[in-house]
Amino acid sequence: MTDKTMDVFVKKTGGWAASQLEACTRCGLCAEACPYYLATGNPDYTPIWKVELLSRAYQQRFTLVGKVKTALGFNKPITDEEIKDWSMIDFNACSMCGKCAAVCPMGIEIPKLIGTVRAGVNAAGYAPEGLKSKAKAQDEFGSPNGDTVDAYKEWFASAKEKVGIDVPVDVKGAEILVVFTNLEISTKKSNLYDLAKILEAAGISWTTSLEARDAFNMGKIIGDGKLKKKLLMRIYNAAVELGVKKVLVTECGHGFVALRDDLPEVVGKALPFEVIHIAGLLPDLIAEGKIKVQAGKFANGKTYTFHDSCKIQRTGGYFEEPRDALKILVGESNLKDMASNREEGLCCGGGGGLRAIPEAKDNRMAAFKLKLHELEEVKADVVVSTCDNCQLQIKDGLNFYEVEDVEVKGLIEMVADALIV
Ligand code: SF4
Ligand code: SF4
Repeated sequence: MTDKTMDVFVKKTGGWAASQLEACTRCGLCAEACPYYLATGNPDYTPIWKVELLSRAYQQRFTLVGKVKTALGFNKPITDEEIKDWSMIDFNACSMCGKCAAVCPMGIEIPKLIGTVRAGVNAAGYAPEGLKSKAKAQDEFGSPNGDTVDAYKEWFASAKEKVGIDVPVDVKGAEILVVFTNLEISTKKSNLYDLAKILEAAGISWTTSLEARDAFNMGKIIGDGKLKKKLLMRIYNAAVELGVKKVLVTECGHGFVALRDDLPEVVGKALPFEVIHIAGLLPDLIAEGKIKVQAGKFANGKTYTFHDSCKIQRTGGYFEEPRDALKILVGESNLKDMASNREEGLCCGGGGGLRAIPEAKDNRMAAFKLKLHELEEVKADVVVSTCDNCQLQIKDGLNFYEVEDVEVKGLIEMVADALIV
């Protein structure tokens, strides 16, 4: 194993990772939760196999049996070729969806361990090229697709012409700092216009920031701790500087979790602001009467279903809020849950950076087929999601399987369309 990979593993195996690995009883329950294993039957894709590299490093380095076996030559040293193979497994066949951890009776946080393997593989230089270039672009330009601050300035300014709203930029003392993602600027610019309409209608004091402009965090995806911290601190510093009470993440699930759950650890204290997601804010604004929407606006005889995104729902906990809003917008009887829902929701197959890895397309589409089966079972005409990455993956998957009669919608656009001003 390369020294760099071992360094990453040793840091982790010294503490929590070691105890996690030791607790595994090899019961196999996590395998039945993994969409990539279920979709392909490939034994390399079982969650516990995905951390085997870490287990071997731990055993060789820390256990007496491992040390003796290594000394006697029974434990083969891990080679660069094997690390490359593990890159194909831990990056290309894991969306970090967290379903394995949710079913593990021993409470083992497999996605975190997989994150450690990703970090080791990345340190050795074997992360997928698609992710490496996006990480470099975000480090250099501020967003993974290379959009600079000028692109954001232009986008923010365009709201005046589109919806007649001056988007506030770097306004000190605003209540909410809204942080978008590069996916919105590249694929769904209307999210800004729709959200601006909603926030203005609610009378909320809000701002954007040219520094904290992208919630995406390629450091977290690729396993680069330094980059993750740098990107998180950009948002933290801007939020503190502006004195906001809340940071609102518009869509990106993993960016939301990085800010809410990882940032306190990075700064070593509780955050002086709350991190919220539109999956919670929009339903709250409706429930509290701060915005008025046309009830039944989308009750058009179609069947709607809500896709539980792994990071926003399973990790984030926003299960009922978006459903409550949808019940008002589409009519309760028109909203049907898929077979796997809420904590047990099935990943769309495109998270964890997979959409940026061309070689992962077969796995992505195989995993989506499971989701498609559930969409078909519930006879969904429209699938709604609060994550832009999921929406893109579902659209990719529907195109791939040539399904033309299922529509994909985001909650922001639906609330904006139903807004009564
Ligand atoms: S479910 Fe938990 S205990 Fe069972 S094999 Fe998977 S990680 Fe190990
Ligand atoms: S996090 Fe999800 S995709 Fe990754 S191993 Fe666990 S169940 Fe599979």
